[in-house]
Amino acid sequence: MAAAAAAEAVLSSIKPVSSLASAASALTDEQLSILQFLCNKNLERAMRILDLGGVERVVAEPSKRTVFRVLGESKGCDQYVCFPKHFCSCHSFFYDVVARGEQLHCKHQLAARLSSALELCKEVIVSDQQLALMLLQI
Ligand SMILES: [Zn+2]
Repeated sequence: MAAAAAAEAVLSSIKPVSSLASAASALTDEQLSILQFLCNKNLERAMRILDLGGVERVVAEPSKRTVFRVLGESKGCDQYVCFPKHFCSCHSFFYDVVARGEQLHCKHQLAARLSSALELCKEVIVSDQQLALMLLQI
């Protein structure tokens, strides 16, 4: 799992970006090249989601429990529910990450991690009951 540790180290080293900069320009060349190597096409796809403002951090009140909702690019699903380090409700997470182990993260998890690190997420406040209903729909 050296690749997972390397990806975690790079993702943890990313600093917030000023609102004027684009996501790609906020990452160093080294961070970009390591993530490109480890994540392949998912980095480009995640960056596209970030450029579309496609990541929402959903915070439930009063518990402060947090999940991410990430824009989907496939037909039939507008958004996926995502726990950036552990789970995404998309098909790629189940096939490429869990079943085949070919990817460390799906593009939604990567977009959520990058968006969170760069502080580019839109924050949406919901009730704990609304969050529970959202999780029941996965
Ligand atoms: Zn996903």
